[in-house]
Order: sequence, then structure tokens, then C-alpha cells
Amino acid sequence: MNIHEYQAKEILNGFGIPIPRSRVALTADQVERAAKEMGGHCVIKAQIYAGGRGKAGGVKVVHHPEQANDVAKELFGKKLVTIQTGPEGLKVRRILIEEAVEIAREFYVSITLDRESSRYCLIASAEGGVEIEEVARKSPEKIHMLTIDPFTGLRPYQARKIALALGLTGVVCEDCVELLLNLYKCCLERDCFLVEINPLVVTKAGWLLAMDAKMSFDDNAVYRHREYPDMVDYSQLDPLEITAGKYDLAYIKLSGSIGCMVNGAGLAMATLDVLKEFGGEPANFLDVGGGATREKVAEAFKIILEDSDVKAVFVNIFGGIMRCDVIAQGIIEAASEVKCILPIVVRMDGSHVEEGKKLLQESGLNVQIGETLGDGAGKIVKMLGQGGN
Ligand code: GDP
Ligand code: MN
Repeated sequence: MNIHEYQAKEILNGFGIPIPRSRVALTADQVERAAKEMGGHCVIKAQIYAGGRGKAGGVKVVHHPEQANDVAKELFGKKLVTIQTGPEGLKVRRILIEEAVEIAREFYVSITLDRESSRYCLIASAEGGVEIEEVARKSPEKIHMLTIDPFTGLRPYQARKIALALGLTGVVCEDCVELLLNLYKCCLERDCFLVEINPLVVTKAGWLLAMDAKMSFDDNAVYRHREYPDMVDYSQLDPLEITAGKYDLAYIKLSGSIGCMVNGAGLAMATLDVLKEFGGEPANFLDVGGGATREKVAEAFKIILEDSDVKAVFVNIFGGIMRCDVIAQGIIEAASEVKCILPIVVRMDGSHVEEGKKLLQESGLNVQIGETLGDGAGKIVKMLGQGGN
């Protein structure tokens, strides 16, 4: 679960991490007034659920309130395309106005969950800023990493080692130690999946400041934080992903034309692989879960069909906990409700499979049965081809 930069900064500030003076605005007029408050010279930052804004024109330094207004007018409503958004971009609806700071040095620091070690990992580099991906690619030795033992937590000596590796000395070094310890505390208490400060800067006046912040929460821990769902800016999410979230379906839109409905993440991955092997391009990843009900299957089917890129549907379900005939009913129900005329291939196996297949064959839908995963994938690609797509 993601939140905006300004929200992340507020949270970090609550843990004693210094951030620049700022305001959030929803209109160009508000941006202008905020810029006036900052003394005219300030930074205008588009708030979207993606990084790489600096290089895409989403972060601009201005010198007068009127100039802030002009920049804001240009940004509001614009779909900002950055290296992290994909070609469709993300719409700017909120802008953060920050006091401009004279930067002496830019660092990178983050803490993220490392799935391999199942631990938090602290990552830092003296060469932070907008080129961090380049640094990681070209000179990985400049990136310092530390796996944090959950029993001892991050120890001050470890944080100091990192701060020294960043080339910091004296008071700023000690400030950085404290900042790293607070960053770790924030991660633990807020159940973060990622907290990233890039750049963490030392200003010309010698202060440490979190100039940018990115925070995402561990979805599995959201239930522990009642305020989290209200922090989400739904306008930044794909509407179908929001609906899927409501029904507890794991849905991710992809760029192809074959809608996929599968139960179990592993089976879903295998399905996408096999589809590709047969020359098909999946339109989405959709996992209805192990114990999917008829209603859930019907909702999932509707979500797939709402995507206008979908030209054919491939269902691959293993009826273990769930009976195949009940799943078939869910598919038939949803398909008739939305008057689906697209080709459908259903590959199912497990309990009551014969009853399920019979229901589908007698349903009057444009449906074929796949006997195996390969057979199903082959059939859907063929049906799609015959449809002239
Ligand atoms: P990102 O590209 O989405 O990560 O956006 P950032 O918030 O990191 O901004 C991009 C770059 O803009 C930073 O790396 C800084 O170099 C620069 N920047 C951001 N705020 C300020 C500021 O107050 N003063 C100056 N001089 N530069 C800034
Ligand atoms: Mn940044």
C-alpha cells in the first residue's frame, strides 16, 4: 500500500526526522499563496504514486509566487509519465510546495523488507539523487547494505558505520546515526514495506534534511493500522484494482488481450507462462484465491470483462476446496449478466469436474473446455486468432 510523499514526510517527521517546511495544495491559487508564504523561492512537487518525477518535469524550482502559479497550472491535471509510471502516466491532483533548500550533498538511504532473508535491509549510498538507478547499475560497490537482525534491531554502531561510509563526519555524522535509528523505528512501528529517502541532503548551512520520501506499508499489516485505508489516494490507482481489492482478489493489469482467471498465485504464474509459450499475451494477473466462492468468481469475471483490452478469457481453476460445478455456475452467471460474447476457454480440474464441464457446455456461451493447461492455452490463442484479433 502506497502513500504520497507529503504523507510519508509527515510520518517521518513524527519520528524526529527533519523535513523542509511545506504545504500541500489542490489548486494553482493555493500553490501561489503557499509560495508567497515560503518567500517566493520554493520547490513545486507533483504528488503521484511514482518516483522519477525530477527527470520527468514533476519537480520544479521557482523564484516568484506567480511563477509557482504558472508551473502549478501546467502540472495540475497533467498525466505525468516517469520511468516508474508506465506509458499511460499518473494524473497530478496534489502539489507539494516546499521551501527551497541549498543542497551541498545528496545521499540515498532506505530500509526495505528483503524477501530472501525475511529481514529489514538498510541500503545507503553517498551518491544519491535522481541517478541512483544508474549508480546501482554502474558502480554497485558504492551502495552499502546491511541486513538488520530483528532480535537486536539496528544498533547505533551499525548506523555509525553506515554514516561514516557515506563520508559524514562530526555533528552531521551523529545526526545521521540518529536519523537511521529513527528510520528503523518508523519501519517497525508503522509496518513499512519500504521507506526511502532520496535524496537525504546536507544543506549548505550544514543541516541534514529528508528532501524526498517514499513509503509503502506491508499489506499484510494494514489491519493493525486503522488509519491506513483512509490515507490512500484512490485517484492514483487503477479503478479495476480498487474493485478487486474490495472483493479481496489479487488483480494486476497487464498489456495483452487474454483475460485470465485463476485460483492460487502459483497457478496464476504458471498460467501466464504457458499462455506466453503458446503465443498468447495475458491482459491481467488475477488470483481469486484458494477458497473462492461463486460470488467471488462472478466478480472476478466481471472485472476481467470490464477491461476493454480483453478479447478472450482463459479460466484455469483447480477445484479443491471449491467445487468445479459451483465455479462453473459463477462463470455462467457473470457471463450472462454482462452479455459476454467473447471466446472463453475453461480448464478445470478437481471435485465435481464433470458436472462443471457439463454446465458450461450447456450454457450457450462461446466456451470451449481445455483438458490440460497446455490444451487450454492452445485453444484460447487459436480462438482469439479466429476472431480476427
Ligand atoms: P523524484 O525524482 O521523484 O525522486 O523527486 P525528488 O523529490 O527526489 O526531486 C528530484 C530532485 O530535485 C532531487 O534529487 C533534488 O536534486 C531536487 N530538489 C528537490 N527539492 C529541492 C530543493 O528544495 N532545492 C533544490 N536545489 N533542489 C531540490
Ligand atoms: Mn527522489
